[in-house]
Amino acid sequence: MHEVVVVGCGPTGMMLAGELRLAGADVVVLERRESQELAGSRGGGIHARTIELLDQRGIAERFLTEGRTVNTATFGGTRLDVGRLPTRHPYTLALFQNHIERLLLQWIEELGVPIRRNIEVVGVHADEENVHLRLASGETVQARYVAGADGGRSVVRREAGIGFEGSVATRSSLIAEVRVAEELPTDARIDERGVHGLYPMGEGRARVVVTEAELGPPTPPTLDDLRRELLHVFGTDFGVHDPAWLSRFTDATRQATNYRAGRVLLAGDAAHVHSPTGGLGIGLGIQDAVNLGWKLGQVVRGVSGEDLLDTYHAERHPAGGRALKFTMAQSLFQKAEPRQEALRDLIDEVLRVDDAGSPIAALISGLDVAYDLGEGHPLLGRRMPDLDIIAEEKPVRLFGLMHRARPLLLQFEGPPIDSGHHPERVDYVRARYDGAWELPLLGEVVAPSAVLVRPDGHVAWVGEGSTDGLDAALAKWCGTAAGRAGTVA
Ligand SMILES: Cc1cc2nc3c(=O)[nH]c(=O)nc-3n(C[C@H](O)[C@H](O)[C@H](O)COP(=O)(O)OP(=O)(O)OC[C@H]3O[C@@H](n4cnc5c(N)ncnc54)[C@H](O)[C@@H]3O)c2cc1C
Repeated sequence: MHEVVVVGCGPTGMMLAGELRLAGADVVVLERRESQELAGSRGGGIHARTIELLDQRGIAERFLTEGRTVNTATFGGTRLDVGRLPTRHPYTLALFQNHIERLLLQWIEELGVPIRRNIEVVGVHADEENVHLRLASGETVQARYVAGADGGRSVVRREAGIGFEGSVATRSSLIAEVRVAEELPTDARIDERGVHGLYPMGEGRARVVVTEAELGPPTPPTLDDLRRELLHVFGTDFGVHDPAWLSRFTDATRQATNYRAGRVLLAGDAAHVHSPTGGLGIGLGIQDAVNLGWKLGQVVRGVSGEDLLDTYHAERHPAGGRALKFTMAQSLFQKAEPRQEALRDLIDEVLRVDDAGSPIAALISGLDVAYDLGEGHPLLGRRMPDLDIIAEEKPVRLFGLMHRARPLLLQFEGPPIDSGHHPERVDYVRARYDGAWELPLLGEVVAPSAVLVRPDGHVAWVGEGSTDGLDAALAKWCGTAAGRAGTVA
């Protein structure tokens, strides 16, 4: 019997398991794959907020040293400048998913997260007390909570009876990593079908993407399907053979109607699927995981009540919905159809006026996420910037205080706040910061006298010269002192 079972050891499941472990929860990951190896390199990168989340745990550098940073992002036909966003990481990191997964695995192994492989979950049944998971082997595993991070075809979602609503696919693409007999040029093109691309990988291998003439079936594609579509678009099939990876993706866009059904929670692709355009999938899953991990950790430790879990859906469902809207709009542009081209060109004109592209750049980067935590200072509900502060007379980066994923009460001015707030639930730090407080999209905001930062990096309370509202915020987000102490790091 475990406190939490995470189903799926993809990027979302690993991040969630790491967060749960930091929160002191007894967690196990169940994974169908026998190793972390992916058949292909899959997703191509992560954006600024996701890099910030990794930075909050002290592991961003591992990813940055392996990838390549790019400070533009695309919407329609417009190149947006993400280089001016107020963050320590004003770029997208190009790094293939197989490397992202390897580095996340390394982190959760360091944290001591147990992973059981070759385990396929086929049934989930929750009662008042526990969740019972049925495995393909016939074995049963029990837990107090289950988190489905088991991808777009989530068994956990299906078994919990959670709806998955949205728009059906309008087109499909084949993606493959193959050996090629013919030398293949780098090529990216767009036609009336959609986008197509050829990317040589060296040593006679290439990654190819080709939009199909008609929406493909839900069954796995064959090499003959790939040859036929390549021939049609490029006039040759380049002698493709020996695929290391051959898959089909679509522009279907769906979102779980609820991210929580009692003891069952959903995160990542299990909670939302969309076209890969824009490269938001891995980041959305990691952001879900970082929002959920500490909350579920506090609940299983008895520090917080179950109602804290409802804030997960309340916060992440709208954030996911906004990202899905972006991918739907973006995928509409990925077709050479005269009316769509006309719209793309007009939008390009608009986005070039002054700073009109900034809201979209902030959306892609994930830095615009603002949870609805009530009226007040603009920082409330937004992510805390990684300021260079002086804490206990030493210069530190603010994110450096967040590696253990604990709530952080930072005081910049005024007489010391008498915690009465228990050191076991909140880290209290007196800090100095004389620079500007600059937020994405909003620009400079009034400096607060104190802030309560949740473990996910979002600001839960802002002091403006007094401690009004602090006790309520501590009770809501940090629970009572009665529970079991957390954090393993
Ligand atoms: C072509 C393509 C390009 C993409 N490019 C990008 C990009 O550039 N950037 C980006 O951010 N995203 C990209 N994505 C999306 C990204 O790959 C996904 O959003 C991401 O993998 C989701 O992570 P996840 O952990 O939620 O789910 P998954 O990665 O699907 O992981 C789910 C895990 O659960 C396991 N599992 C499933 N069912 C069970 C079961 N019943 N029992 C046990 N284990 C189970 C699976 O084996 C898997 O390991 C791309 C996707 C595609 C297809």
